[in-house]
Amino acid sequence: MRYTEKQVKVPLCAVSTTSSLENKTGIWRFAQPIFIDRVSPCNMQCPAGEDITGYMYLVSKGRYEEAWRLIMEENPFPAIMGRVCFHICEERCNRAEHDEAVSIHMVERFIGDYGLSHSLKIAVPKPEKDKRVAIVGAGPAGLSAAYHLRKMGYNVTLFDYNPEPGGIMRYGIPAYRLPKEILDGEIGRLYDIEIEFKMGVRVGEDISWEALDKQFKAVFIAIGAWEDIGLRIKGLDRKGIFNALEFLKEVNLGKKPKIGKVVAVIGGGNSAIDCARVSRRLGSEVTIIYRRGEAEMPAHPEEIEMAREEGIRFLLLASPIEVRGGEMVSGLNLEEMTLGEVDQSGRRRPMPTGKAFDIDCDTMIIAIGEATRLDDLPPSISHRGGVVEADQIGQTIHPRFFAGGDIIDIPHTVTHAIGSGKRSAVAIDRFLGGIKGEEDYLDQFRWGDSGNISLAWLKGTSPFPRKNPALETTDYRDMNPFYFDHRAGMKIRRIHLKGFQEVIESPSQEEVVSETMRCFNCGACTECGNCYIFCPENCIRRDPGGYGYIADMDYCKGCGVCVHECPRGAMSMKFME
Ligand SMILES: Cc1cc2nc3c(=O)[nH]c(=O)nc-3n(C[C@H](O)[C@H](O)[C@H](O)COP(=O)(O)OP(=O)(O)OC[C@H]3O[C@@H](n4cnc5c(N)ncnc54)[C@H](O)[C@@H]3O)c2cc1C
Ligand code: SF4
Ligand code: SF4
Ligand code: SF4
Repeated sequence: MRYTEKQVKVPLCAVSTTSSLENKTGIWRFAQPIFIDRVSPCNMQCPAGEDITGYMYLVSKGRYEEAWRLIMEENPFPAIMGRVCFHICEERCNRAEHDEAVSIHMVERFIGDYGLSHSLKIAVPKPEKDKRVAIVGAGPAGLSAAYHLRKMGYNVTLFDYNPEPGGIMRYGIPAYRLPKEILDGEIGRLYDIEIEFKMGVRVGEDISWEALDKQFKAVFIAIGAWEDIGLRIKGLDRKGIFNALEFLKEVNLGKKPKIGKVVAVIGGGNSAIDCARVSRRLGSEVTIIYRRGEAEMPAHPEEIEMAREEGIRFLLLASPIEVRGGEMVSGLNLEEMTLGEVDQSGRRRPMPTGKAFDIDCDTMIIAIGEATRLDDLPPSISHRGGVVEADQIGQTIHPRFFAGGDIIDIPHTVTHAIGSGKRSAVAIDRFLGGIKGEEDYLDQFRWGDSGNISLAWLKGTSPFPRKNPALETTDYRDMNPFYFDHRAGMKIRRIHLKGFQEVIESPSQEEVVSETMRCFNCGACTECGNCYIFCPENCIRRDPGGYGYIADMDYCKGCGVCVHECPRGAMSMKFME
């Protein structure tokens, strides 16, 4: 039970000056307090399995390098993730119930940039010659798997047909969201730890899957979704029509695709928004055409908001029927749509109304989604609907072939790809070490809602020892918010339409530290001492083993005051059986 602020009457002095030494009052109790390490909802949610609570605390104390090292246990790219991750962690932040969610991604970005500007390095063991693992695809999933396997001592070779590593992070996401020096800086660290990169090699063409199977002990496949899904309408043979990925790739290679003054982008996802914002930066008037409503758009709401701020128009509930024009595109014939019942995607279905209308444009960019190139998949694995059939640890029906990222059935985001690479790296290590059993693996390793794992906790390398770990989320109701002030979150500053200059400005150190102080550190003891101060029996003591506190059960009456006064839900009452 929690009291409201009005009900709370804090005693003038909560410290007991005497205790019932004679009575050993502990024998009276029917419940006892336990110190418990719950998981914060943000940690549960992060697909990369980052110890957010941990790095919030470290940054608040100015321990930036330790914060960087803590993230690097889970995710090799904090500066990238702080920029492009859709920060679903913030959707479950307990602080949102108090006032405003903590800007976790901005703190992560700061930590990542700190690592880059201070040229921080990680130590890895020497690669063992006979522990050879091949990774196919140097996107976030492949790079993450390579990084974790290399840290475990594996000899890792990465194959990718593109000239440089990064996958969609390099060739899809534009520089105003992810500057190339940030991408190069973080990927550069993977070269430093002796991962062998074989770029310009298409597996299945330049080298066979059978050859990889013979030469390597295990193969992790992360070839992503690079096939633009096409439209089936009339007039697609006219000039002035682009596919999203080819268009974005050209721009990311520093070229300037020849687009006209008036661009229509078809689609409602993130690639549609990227194509529109890039076209705007190339000087065009841009309209996004989407067949459902704004609430149904798969694009991230912040991306939609920024596109609007940059002057991009949205034509919703409209679907193209035909591209008009002669040799060149001159416009589109569209049909007005309405919304029907919710379909399999969980969104309301677009329904044709039969009412057609025209708009003028001289360029059309098709951005309705991407699919895996099925010819690129190894023949020895099974797939359905372009998705590789793999279990929850990424193992395919070929036991030495694992898969991750956009080719398996997980959300298509950089962070989910990074998480899947880590999960399969651990699975490959277990498989090659002869440890069997998926159930056992899941029981021990999976704890988050996104199927994520925290290696720092597993390996015990976290600076915050988890003495009594519990796989339960810390709810706002488990905490005592009385101890936290109400304060608005940090202001995120944006620079709009200055070419390809980064839109979101870097926060200052002061802003970031102040933001971390808004974090409740849900479920983790910060040694605030409240339990010690408030215990009327004087039975809470410093843990002689080091971090935190313990309760002396000889004198604890089980009143529960300590648990009630713990601000962050790091304690719980256990009833005696
Ligand atoms: C335009 C766009 C913008 C996006 N923006 C965001 C964003 O802001 N935030 C976010 O979280 N997600 C975003 N996404 C989604 C995200 O980029 C993907 O989910 C993620 O990149 C998937 O990672 P991956 O490693 O599976 O594949 P990819 O990043 O696609 O990488 C696959 C790699 O495999 C290589 N490859 C393919 N076939 C072969 C082969 N046969 N042999 C050798 N190499 C091969 C490719 O060259 C590529 O480098 C965006 C997607 C797009 C299309
Ligand atoms: S990777 Fe994404 S979900 Fe995880 S902490 Fe960073 S912003 Fe949040
Ligand atoms: S307050 Fe801090 S620990 Fe709690 S959910 Fe938010 S960011 Fe995570
Ligand atoms: S009251 Fe403070 S010291 Fe005691 S368990 Fe909670 S956070 Fe730790």
